[in-house]
Amino acid sequence: MIRVASVGSQGHVERTSCLLCGRATFDPGRGEGVWAHGVAGGRQVLICPDCQRTRPRWDEQLDRCRTCGATRLSLVLGDLVCRACGAAAPAEGGGPPEQG
Ligand SMILES: [Zn+2]
Ligand SMILES: [Zn+2]
Repeated sequence: MIRVASVGSQGHVERTSCLLCGRATFDPGRGEGVWAHGVAGGRQVLICPDCQRTRPRWDEQLDRCRTCGATRLSLVLGDLVCRACGAAAPAEGGGPPEQG
């Protein structure tokens, strides 16, 4: 007989919310749009559809691809990967930690 370990949690699940308004990603929308993925300060962040509509400069806080300038970045194993052009670069924060 195979013993199946019962896992209470799904592991390290980060609770993610909108970078700008703090609204939780699992908040059910009414078909209002798509959450924008991006990276800010070396962290994967999300921008809710509301903020994309109501804040014309919502993407100013996002890191941009150094190759094409797009904000559609993903963090993959510590690298910033651009979903627009496919360029990959080490994420910020690789230097010495800030004193602070
Ligand atoms: Zn928002
Ligand atoms: Zn790019």
